[in-house]
Amino acid sequence: MLTAEKPDIRNLSLDEIQIFFTQNNEKPFRARQLYEWLWKKAAGSFDQMTNLSKPIREKLIENFTFHTAKPDKIVKSSDGTIKILFRLFDDNQVEGVLIPSKNRVTACISSQVGCALGCKFCATGQLGFTRNLHLGEIFDQVTTMARLAVENYQTSLSHIVYMGMGEPLLNYTNVLKSIEMITSANGLGMSPQRITVSTVGLPKMIKQLADDGVKFNLALSLHFADNMKRSAFMPINIQNTIPQITEALKYYHSKTGDRLSIEYILFNNRNDSLSDARLLAEFCRNFPVKVNIIEYNMVKNTDFQKTDEAKQTAFIEFLENKNMVVNLRRSRGKDIAAACGQLAGESVE
Ligand code: SF4
Repeated sequence: MLTAEKPDIRNLSLDEIQIFFTQNNEKPFRARQLYEWLWKKAAGSFDQMTNLSKPIREKLIENFTFHTAKPDKIVKSSDGTIKILFRLFDDNQVEGVLIPSKNRVTACISSQVGCALGCKFCATGQLGFTRNLHLGEIFDQVTTMARLAVENYQTSLSHIVYMGMGEPLLNYTNVLKSIEMITSANGLGMSPQRITVSTVGLPKMIKQLADDGVKFNLALSLHFADNMKRSAFMPINIQNTIPQITEALKYYHSKTGDRLSIEYILFNNRNDSLSDARLLAEFCRNFPVKVNIIEYNMVKNTDFQKTDEAKQTAFIEFLENKNMVVNLRRSRGKDIAAACGQLAGESVE
């Protein structure tokens, strides 16, 4: 059998692994041991599975691949933020960012190599789309960053946000499976309340999340509350308009009862006026939300700029005067191009 045709071991369910072991005259409990190595112990290769005999490991190598996301380069910002460049089995690259703050350590992870959606202010969008990440490649980002959190900050990874490269809901199955393995007692056992999936707003997929009864947090990367402006800078909005997103989020809230996070990057003279703030407040009246205002960082080959401090303050005050819950997310990792919208899988020498 050619290597390329072998299934990846981490795409198999426990039942499927059990069938393989039975077919190869191995005891069923061996399948459990293997499964534990894959998810609970987060092994990176068959060789690490020392309680499986050598012949079993050889049989596994013969029949399956074990594709991993390996940290290739790691750089630390002066503010403590760490950017990790992961190399994939096919030499593609994605980035993850580890962000320490007062009470938490957050891993920002990628779900796709590149992104097809081409938002005009985003470095990842300029790359175009290469492929979806596999379940194991998403999982590896988390386990690598969990290790780095302990090594660098002497504390555990506390939160995960799917806000790196790619649109998570366009890799729906693998993203949901990865969350299952991160939260399952058979995996890392983290609370789903500590996980946030951020979407640009795909109404059909938002409704699917509601129907699937997900327990993690959902964030909408809105950035523009004016439908025409949003379509101009975020082309996905042409087919997935703000009224359609609103309707899907209402449905999501009615099913889950959850409060949503609205992400809003402030761009100088693009979406930072008080009339923009008014539109944002109107949008937010549709469901319980908290708004995260995010500082922008320059991305090469775009003409988007950061809003100045005075306009930022006025924008936030306008929302607060409407009794809205607003947080300001200061930019982190600026000196290593690790901030929001800057992830481009570039070399991080
Ligand atoms: Fe893709 Fe998100 Fe960048 Fe838009 S902002 S191009 S959805 S990665």
